Amino acid sequence: MYVSRVSDLGSGVCLAGHPGVPVGVGVDYITVHVSGAETVFTNFLPQAIIGTIGTTDCGHTTTAVTGSDTVFAEYMPIHRIGDVGVINEGNGEHVVISGSDDVNNDD
Ligand SMILES: [Zn+2]
Repeated sequence: MYVSRVSDLGSGVCLAGHPGVPVGVGVDYITVHVSGAETVFTNFLPQAIIGTIGTTDCGHTTTAVTGSDTVFAEYMPIHRIGDVGVINEGNGEHVVISGSDDVNNDD
């Protein structure tokens, strides 16, 4: 699985409620990773890790919740393409869809 970094993207469905859309009704969203490891970089970008925060185009924020079993940055599992994050303000989940094109971790 290729690793993901600050500025990489996730795609999912947010159920947290939006203008004109009640809570529980899904809205497609894209999240952009905005935080990561402060001292570990991949392709010159901060490495995304479990706990990485994202901001979405639906007006909410996300947290990275899955990662590698074997590779860590700052003691946290690294977050990769195919890993999952969740909406912080309600229900909703996404899968990471972008990352490094030359650094990967298979475990
Ligand atoms: Zn949302």
